[in-house]
Amino acid sequence: MRKPLVIFYALAIYVLSEIIWWAYLLVSVQPERKGMIIGEGAIFLLIFFTGAYYLQKTLKKERNLHEQQKNFLLSVTHELKSPLASIKLYIQTILKRELDRQQISSFLNNSLKDIERLDDLVENMLLATRIENHSYSFPKEEFDFSEVIEKVANRLQIHSCSSQIISCELEKGIKLKGDKFALTLVVSNLVENAVKYSPACAEVKVKLCNKNNIIQFAVEDKGIGISDQEKARIFDKFYRVGSEETRKTKGTGLGLYIVKQVLEKHKAYIKVKNNKPTGTIFEVTFNSHGN
Ligand code: ADP
Repeated sequence: MRKPLVIFYALAIYVLSEIIWWAYLLVSVQPERKGMIIGEGAIFLLIFFTGAYYLQKTLKKERNLHEQQKNFLLSVTHELKSPLASIKLYIQTILKRELDRQQISSFLNNSLKDIERLDDLVENMLLATRIENHSYSFPKEEFDFSEVIEKVANRLQIHSCSSQIISCELEKGIKLKGDKFALTLVVSNLVENAVKYSPACAEVKVKLCNKNNIIQFAVEDKGIGISDQEKARIFDKFYRVGSEETRKTKGTGLGLYIVKQVLEKHKAYIKVKNNKPTGTIFEVTFNSHGN
């Protein structure tokens, strides 16, 4: 990516010096046409600089995307490797050691969680690709959204903490017409992020209510928060906030991209707000039951 930029700047400098040189020559040969030459030269320069500006912006965007794709591959490899290594270790321990039933069941439960993490990762990647290719049709059906959220929250509950970290304030029986699979991914991406970007065992609140036929779903955390500049960019594909704290966490930068795309297809919108005293609130509003 550096080579095209160097060529681009070299060409820009060459064209500019040629223009100045030709303008100087023309003015010295026909001094009476100085005004016209300067006017035309100025228009040419204006068009040239506008074109150069947009070209440079596109090249910069391409370079960032290339960089993000490289980081994405590294993250995916890492995300695949660590649950696989942990599942392997659990199975080897079960096979090699004499364990009681309780220990075996705890190891198997932990392995199952790792498998679910892998499953989420694969589903996210598949859905992102299909959205990008316009090959996903978002099949709609009526389903119990309260039940979906409750299931996801229970699954993502961290059991190593003494108290429940995901607390739910869910109005029961809220029905939604939409793509159940894609909306389940939306919920799990938002709840998973809230847990991931919060200190260990910090509380995460998940809320769902129906006010005058407008369904509101919110995930509130007390984590590291998101700065105002980053709020607009976090929904971009592969985008991950570059602070030291977030870099330490695992992720692919696909979660919120999927969230935004899926919600757009359901005529729903998402707001990101600061929580008090720290953390973030993601608030999703569905109009007319997602129809
Ligand atoms: P990732 O796989 O990196 O979590 P996402 O698309 O889900 O990708 O999120 C994009 C970025 O937005 C994350 O890398 C993180 O920096 C930021 N982010 C998302 N959710 C939160 C949150 N609840 N608190 C703080 N930062 C968040």
